[in-house]
Amino acid sequence: MQPVVVFSDLDGTLLNHADYSFQAAEPALAELKEQKIPLVLVSSKTAPEMLRVREALGNTHPFVCENGSLVMIPQDRVEELGVEADDRSMSDGYYYDYRGIDREQILQVLNGLKSDYQFTGFAWMTDEEIGHVTGLSLEEAGLAGQRKASEPILWRDDPEQLDSFTEVLAENKLRLIQGGRFYHVLGQCDKGNAVSSLLARYEQLYQEKPYCIALGDSPNDLDMLKFADAPVLIPNENGACMNGDALKHVTRAPKEGAEGWNAAVLEILDSLRNRA
Ligand SMILES: [Mg+2]
Repeated sequence: MQPVVVFSDLDGTLLNHADYSFQAAEPALAELKEQKIPLVLVSSKTAPEMLRVREALGNTHPFVCENGSLVMIPQDRVEELGVEADDRSMSDGYYYDYRGIDREQILQVLNGLKSDYQFTGFAWMTDEEIGHVTGLSLEEAGLAGQRKASEPILWRDDPEQLDSFTEVLAENKLRLIQGGRFYHVLGQCDKGNAVSSLLARYEQLYQEKPYCIALGDSPNDLDMLKFADAPVLIPNENGACMNGDALKHVTRAPKEGAEGWNAAVLEILDSLRNRA
């Protein structure tokens, strides 16, 4: 049977939008472990936030943070995935592949735009305020604020102003992408190119192209879904404004969040088994 790799967004996809629970996805998660199928988490979350979710999931695979700005590969998988890690990029048992622009540089540009546009970002919020807009606990909000290479912003200006804002960001080699709750400002990288770099590593490991399942719920997931053999869209309330080539072949999960994730993954694994 062709090897399989699963890439999944977290918020609103594997984790419920409202309560961040993945409990309803347990059967599919157990099936992936049973079949030794890697589950690579791909999120706008920070590394410290994702390490915590991975631990709760018992996940030991590489993961993608901050919308593709940073790929982290555990030290014990560096060799099998063909990473030539030097001491500079290894830290705390992980290989850090920074693919974007330092947050300090991003904030410098955003600071310059504050007088022309109405918005706020995590950098201008206390942990209490981040907790308020995300629904995270105070401690989790602190982890969400520890960003390295991207900035989530809340847009408080006219929606029409977004185009010119995006243009000014582009002049500064920055991108604006839309997530479930926030817009994210980051370098010229996205979930798609991070996922494709990892897919190439898995292809090398398996000596054949793995069958790629990818799941997401927001516009910032489209770049990743387009690389998948089985792209899955988890429904959410912002879904109506999504468009893109990736949506042509997409399977729409029957339910929101973890419940939809569980049903979609089990069904795809089932169809692969029947095909083999
Ligand atoms: Mg999401």
